[in-house]
Amino acid sequence: MFCSLKYCIRTLSKPSVLTGVRNCSQFTEQNHSNFGKNGHFDIIIVGGGATGISLAGAIAKNPKLSEKKVLLLDASPSFKGYNENVYSNRVYSINHNTVELMKYIGAWDTIKSIRIRPVKQMQVWDACSDALITFNHDNFIGDVAYVVENDVLVHSILKELQPYNNITIRNDAKIDKVILEQDGSTYGKVQLASGEDFSAELLVGADGANSMVRKQMNANHFALSYNQMGLIATVELGECDDNFVAWQRFLPNSVIALLPLSENLSSIVWSTYAKHFKHLMQLDEADFIDAVNNAFLQKYEKNSVVEMAMGAVRTILNTNSSVVRQLPPQITGLYGKSRAGFPLGFGHASSYVGRGVALIGDAAHRIHPLAGMGLNLGFGDVKCLTETLAKATYNGFALNDLNHLCEYEQQRLKLNVPIMLGVHGLQQLYSTDLSPVVLARSIGLQITQQVPPLKKFFMQKAMG
Ligand SMILES: Cc1cc2nc3c(=O)[nH]c(=O)nc-3n(C[C@H](O)[C@H](O)[C@H](O)COP(=O)(O)OP(=O)(O)OC[C@H]3O[C@@H](n4cnc5c(N)ncnc54)[C@H](O)[C@@H]3O)c2cc1C
Repeated sequence: MFCSLKYCIRTLSKPSVLTGVRNCSQFTEQNHSNFGKNGHFDIIIVGGGATGISLAGAIAKNPKLSEKKVLLLDASPSFKGYNENVYSNRVYSINHNTVELMKYIGAWDTIKSIRIRPVKQMQVWDACSDALITFNHDNFIGDVAYVVENDVLVHSILKELQPYNNITIRNDAKIDKVILEQDGSTYGKVQLASGEDFSAELLVGADGANSMVRKQMNANHFALSYNQMGLIATVELGECDDNFVAWQRFLPNSVIALLPLSENLSSIVWSTYAKHFKHLMQLDEADFIDAVNNAFLQKYEKNSVVEMAMGAVRTILNTNSSVVRQLPPQITGLYGKSRAGFPLGFGHASSYVGRGVALIGDAAHRIHPLAGMGLNLGFGDVKCLTETLAKATYNGFALNDLNHLCEYEQQRLKLNVPIMLGVHGLQQLYSTDLSPVVLARSIGLQITQQVPPLKKFFMQKAMG
């Protein structure tokens, strides 16, 4: 599988193409009526999910880009805001890089003032063996990650965008057609289902895993379905002193995570096969909660060969007993009707950029949620693309200068690809209960837990 994935990582060098030094602000809507009857913009962002709107936010806040005329188009209806009294079931675990981006956009203080839950420790363990790993700062002085609801995140970013007249957001704006810059034309164009069309110097595809912009780019796209669904739900906890721990257990055929959301609520992400997902969705509330508690607590028969080998590893590493495993809090109920599901897949575009076009977020790369990294990678794209566009502008180049866009691509490929392969590898490693595989992964986990530099390395990667 690793070999077959490698072909999607294209070479990091690209022939340089100079596309000119004209600054886009010289152009007006009138003199480009052929390219977009309904308006010409510097940048059109296709897709207003979390990555699309944060790109608009980062552009607005960047002094070198703050004058640029940006149009963000999204097919879905206008955002209704977050509900003060009800927690949403769509939550993300975000890392420190994402926090930095939110601070840059100005949204972090609003997020904190509404609600966000710090994660002070993570415990990940294998149901098929005694292997376990924990991540935390010494004496829990710092937070390992944060859990935030999508609606709180989106609300806080949109609030920052309000004063900017140069940023236009259009909802209910489904794009039917994308025409990319070609020889003889300097602009890309999008056409809405309503018939309106707009042109821009740079089109950014933030339109998710089925990106229309990416398809139009004709970039190779490696995609596979895990034939799994990610079941999400918000659950109520029984007695729990400090709900600051994120828990993840690898089960023989699935992986379940419990992320802290408030003092007495947590969020579940249970990645499992389609038939099991359907079964879990059909269970009544009490049976569903039993199934979740079982998933965290049920003892599985251990393989004696694996047990013996793990004992030997512990002796070699000089740890006299198996690592102390903590137990997650008891789950007592389902919060509202919060069960929902998302299909899980892997996808990677061989190119993130082309003439007058760039991809960010799931449009460029999609990964399994077991490491909670998908959106964090997308936010990494946002930061990098913003910096690259600012650099191009500062250097007197157009926003669609391909040399600069290629810099963006190279930087992101270097960071995204190893994480994507790592997460995909973990998914494969934990999709079986075959003894040799269980042995290999258990030893790997145990060694990482016991060797501080190795553990620190993985912790830094996960925390961003
Ligand atoms: C179960 C689950 C749990 C996850 N947990 C985490 C986590 O804890 N941490 C993390 O970092 N990541 C997590 N992820 C990944 C994360 O959800 C995605 O990476 C992220 O939502 C992608 O954001 P995006 O803005 O790139 O795309 P999307 O959220 O898919 O947004 C795309 C937008 O484009 C719009 N659009 C699409 N086509 C068109 C069109 N033709 N015209 C106009 N608009 C269009 C859509 O309306 C949509 O608003 C999880 C994923 C799943 C499935």
